[in-house]
Amino acid sequence: MALIIDGKALSRKVRARIGEEVKELNAVQERAPGLAVIQLGEDPASTIYVNSKIKACTEAGIESFGYILKSDTSEEELLTLIAELNSDPRVDGILCQLPLPDQINEEKIILAIDPDKDVDGFHPFNVGLLSMGKQEALVACTPLGCIEMLKEYKIPLRGKKAVVIGRSNIVGKPMAYLLLRENCTVTITHSHTPVAELPELCRQADILVVAIGKPGFITPEYTNPDQVIIDVGINRTREGKIIGDVDFESVAPIVHAITPVPGGVGPMTIAMLLKNTVTSYRRRVAD
Ligand code: NAD
Repeated sequence: MALIIDGKALSRKVRARIGEEVKELNAVQERAPGLAVIQLGEDPASTIYVNSKIKACTEAGIESFGYILKSDTSEEELLTLIAELNSDPRVDGILCQLPLPDQINEEKIILAIDPDKDVDGFHPFNVGLLSMGKQEALVACTPLGCIEMLKEYKIPLRGKKAVVIGRSNIVGKPMAYLLLRENCTVTITHSHTPVAELPELCRQADILVVAIGKPGFITPEYTNPDQVIIDVGINRTREGKIIGDVDFESVAPIVHAITPVPGGVGPMTIAMLLKNTVTSYRRRVAD
């Protein structure tokens, strides 16, 4: 049976570590780190995510400022709020929960957030820094959590072959850049990669990161016995069960290490949001 990379336990550890760091900083600074969380409408899934982010902040000693706006809020109103938060000295990070309603252009909103407060790491400035391999980039929380898990489990990265399935701006691409920054040899596969070629490409990977959004897509033919698999997928079955993009039952017994779903990448994402907020705070108070 594979080594199970326990994201839940690791996230608790990382969050406790951040909590200690914040306590030490609070003892010498005039204010706590602050995160503004904006949500439009009351979509149940978004509400669960937003509430768990706010709870995690509170536990770590980070002040949170919640803005739950009506779903028919105009783009102009949202841009005005973001401009206020950009200049609010109590706010180190601004998170606008996606997806946004149709009347709002998501790209415009991402661009409006001050790159220094872009704790989601979606602003083109931070994406650019990451693509240049710069450490100072604020990096999207999910891929950052994946790298943190690999490092915490001391999985060798330098010179290793990594295959990323999926090229979304929030997971696949930043994941590939992070692996490249760690000196992996990276292959990105996507919806135009010939389906017949995918198993062979994946079998060659030392590290396989799967972010495709298709339940149980990865089966034993995509794997090799020395492989480390990071399953980013979150899919809800008809019965309401959450499952990953990897068919855990058939794959876990035959690979070296794997993240479970739930309890793998998901909990690390929130821990990285706290980490990015504290990074941004440190830069601001050091200014
Ligand atoms: P997305 O739909 O934006 O991207 C899916 C990607 O898969 C696309 O780039 C597409 O090109 C690629 N793809 C589709 N078919 C393919 C094929 N046959 N071969 C190779 N690639 C193919 O999804 P996303 O936002 O990147 O999310 C991916 C998954 O990760 C989803 O299940 C999502 O719910 C989950 N997710 C989890 C977290 C977390 O915190 N754990 C965060 C974000 C997303």
